[in-house]
Amino acid sequence: MSVRFVVIGAGPAGVEAAATGARLGADVTLVEREVVGGAANLRDCIPSKAMIATGAVLDTLRRSAGLGLSIPGTAAPDLGRLRERIRRISERLATSMADQLESQGVRLVRGVARLVGPHAVALSTGEEPGRDEQVVEADAVLLATGSRPRVPEWAQVDGDRVLTTRQAYPPRTIPEHLVVVGSGVTGVEFVHMFRSLGSKVTLLVSRQQVLPQKDPEVAAALEADFLESGVRLVKGARACALERTGRGVAVRCEDGRQVEGSHVLLAVGSVPSSEGLGLESAGVALSEGGYVPVNHHCQSNVPHIYAAGDLSGRLQLASVAAMQGRKVAEHVMGLHTREHRHLDYDKAASAIFTEPEIADVGLAEAEAFALGRKIRVTKVPFATNARAVIDGDPRGFVKIVSDPATGVVLGGSIVGTRAAELISVIALAVTAHLRVDDIAESLFVHPALAEALAAAAE
Ligand SMILES: Cc1cc2nc3c(=O)[nH]c(=O)nc-3n(C[C@H](O)[C@H](O)[C@H](O)COP(=O)(O)OP(=O)(O)OC[C@H]3O[C@@H](n4cnc5c(N)ncnc54)[C@H](O)[C@@H]3O)c2cc1C
Repeated sequence: MSVRFVVIGAGPAGVEAAATGARLGADVTLVEREVVGGAANLRDCIPSKAMIATGAVLDTLRRSAGLGLSIPGTAAPDLGRLRERIRRISERLATSMADQLESQGVRLVRGVARLVGPHAVALSTGEEPGRDEQVVEADAVLLATGSRPRVPEWAQVDGDRVLTTRQAYPPRTIPEHLVVVGSGVTGVEFVHMFRSLGSKVTLLVSRQQVLPQKDPEVAAALEADFLESGVRLVKGARACALERTGRGVAVRCEDGRQVEGSHVLLAVGSVPSSEGLGLESAGVALSEGGYVPVNHHCQSNVPHIYAAGDLSGRLQLASVAAMQGRKVAEHVMGLHTREHRHLDYDKAASAIFTEPEIADVGLAEAEAFALGRKIRVTKVPFATNARAVIDGDPRGFVKIVSDPATGVVLGGSIVGTRAAELISVIALAVTAHLRVDDIAESLFVHPALAEALAAAAE
C-alpha cells in the first residue's frame, strides 16, 4: 500500500510537498481552505509584485525624457484595472497549479483540516465547522498553514485607514499620504510600491537604518533612493499608539513625536497560523511564539508530523517554503536514509523588490566582519556597465564576498535593476562552491547587466 500523505495548506510549501510526494508514489491529499498557491498567491508575494510591476512602468514613464521620449499627458494608476489585473494573475496561477497537481494524482480537497489524532485528519468541507466532515487516515502529515501579519496591541486594524499588508489588496484607494510603520523587507516594499503609484509616503524607522538585518551599504543605497524620490524617513521612531483623526490617522512614537497621514500601514512582522489545527490531539509541541519547531528534516517532535513554510518559524520566504516542502516529501518517501544535502538556510537568496532592487545571498561583508572572518570583497558599480547605462538606470553595484585563500565565493549583494534575477549566479556559485575565477572567466553576453558580475569577480 502506498504511503498516505496528508498536506494541510496549499501555499508554496504544501504545493511543492504534494507534487513531489505524488511524483514519488505517495497517496497524497492536499487540503486548502482558500486558494491554491496559498497566501503567497492571494495576498503576499504575487499581488505585491504585481502592484510593484505597475508602479515600475509609471517610474519608467517618469524617466521617459532621459530615454529620449516625449509622452504627452500624465500616466496614472487605474484602480479598477489594477484590481482586475491582480485578481486575474492570482486566479490564473491557482488554476494552473490545481490542474497540474490533479494531473499528477494529488487529491485536492477544498476545506479546513485539523488533526483529530496522531494519524487522523478531519476535513471539513461545509460552510459550518464540524459539518460535512470526514476523517482520513495518514501515515505522514505536513502542516503548512503559513502565517498572517502581526497587529501590535496598540493598533486596531479597520481595513479603511489602518491597514496591514492583507488589506492593501485589492487596492481600494491610492492613499494620499501613507505612513508605513516598520522598515523591514515588507515595509520598504510597500513604501516603494505606493510611492511609485503616486502616494506621498512617510516611513517610521525604529532604529537608525532601514533594513536593520542587511548590509549597511545596501541599506544606505535604498535610503538615498527613498530620499531622492521624496519619501520622508523618520528615524529612531518606535510607534506606540495610533488614533483616527478627522483627516486620517495619527501615529504616536515612544519619544513623543507624532506623525500624521491619510492612512497607516502596519508592517511589523507576522504570527504563525497554528491555532485550530488540533495539534494537542496529536501531541505536537509549539514554541512560545506559536510556531512548530522542526529539525533539519522539518519533523516536529512527533516524527511523522512535519511543518514547513512560515509555520516552521525558519526563513519566511516562498522559495524556502517550497524547498522545505520538497525535502519533507522526499523524507516521507524514505529518500533521505542515506547521506543527502540538508536545506542550508544560510544559502537562500532573497530579494527586496524596491527600485533599485536589492538582492543578497550567503555571507555578508558586515557579518564576516562581526565574526572576525577574513574575506575578500570586490565591488563594481553599475555606472560602468553598458546595459545599465543604455537602460537609463545605472544605480547600484555588485559586491562579491569570497575566501581570500581559495577564491571560493561565500556570498554577495546586488543593488540595481534586475538584482533579483542576477543574484541567481552568485547563489549558484555559493551552493556549488564555485570560485570567483569561475564567474570571471564565464563568457557572458554583451551588453548585459550580468557582465557586472564577471567584473566584480575579477
Ligand atoms: C506582503 C508580502 C510579500 C511577500 N513577498 C515575498 C516575495 O516576493 N518572495 C518570497 O519568497 N516571499 C515573500 N513573502 C513571504 C511568503 O509569502 C511566505 O513566506 C510564504 O507565503 C509562506 O508559504 P507557506 O507555504 O508557509 O504558506 P502560505 O502561503 O501562507 O499558505 C498557507 C495556506 O494554508 C491554508 N490554511 C491555513 N490553515 C488551514 C487549514 N486548517 N486547513 C486548510 N488550509 C489551511 C491557508 O488558506 C493558506 O492558503 C511575502 C510576504 C508578505 C507578507
